[in-house]
Amino acid sequence: MTVALIFLTLALPAQAQQIPVPLPRSRPDVVAAPGIPLPRPRPAPGATLPETAAPAEQAPDSAGPVEPEGEPEAPKPPRVYQTACPAVLAGMVEARTLPPLAENQCGERSPLAVTGVLANGRMVALSAEAVLDCGMATALPAWVAAIDSYLVARENTRIDAILVGTSYMCRPRNHVEDADLSEHGFANALDVMGFKLADGRTVTLPEGWADALSPEGRLLRFAHDAGCASFTTTLGPEANAQHGDHLHLDLGCHGQNCTGRLCE
Ligand SMILES: [Zn+2]
Repeated sequence: MTVALIFLTLALPAQAQQIPVPLPRSRPDVVAAPGIPLPRPRPAPGATLPETAAPAEQAPDSAGPVEPEGEPEAPKPPRVYQTACPAVLAGMVEARTLPPLAENQCGERSPLAVTGVLANGRMVALSAEAVLDCGMATALPAWVAAIDSYLVARENTRIDAILVGTSYMCRPRNHVEDADLSEHGFANALDVMGFKLADGRTVTLPEGWADALSPEGRLLRFAHDAGCASFTTTLGPEANAQHGDHLHLDLGCHGQNCTGRLCE
């Protein structure tokens, strides 16, 4: 009996120490715990959520998932595929990219609005934006530089601006109904009406072309012939009546390998 009493006396304090059961931690401590995701606060009435908000917006007191309200998300527009133009990347041509052109059989996937061409170290402006493909934009600088060099050597002046006419236009060749489509319909052609020179002269067709031996007549013939080196088609007043007042330049395909040239 004595032994049992001693045992009880020793055991009771030990049991008493275990009685204060640890209580659950209060909520503010949980809020401060790092790394534990907390339920998102309910938005204020009328408030808009950021785009990155989790789609499963669930009120804490609701029984299950809540369907998102409002209009269904509009389908994304199809991606526009376009290509870069090395002549623009290299700074040989000043241009901005336009959206794809598509009009019946005409069109161009990566048209450029060309505003300037580098010639002999400086940018020569076009009198108006010309809508061209990359091929035409790439061929222009050498042609303009050749004419500019001619003017420096023969006339002691330079090109101030290139006077441009039609570039992209969906139409048949020479405006003849049922004829093949013109290269203009593929942004692959440019009509040049003449040049504004640094000495103040403006040389245009047909007036400038009329006298073959005048400085203007020589300049325009040089420009025509230089076009034959840079483009696959060069048509001037001697080609036909439709080209009496401009030089038509394009990079149409002549011959099996597109290496033929038409120079009239
Ligand atoms: Zn033309």
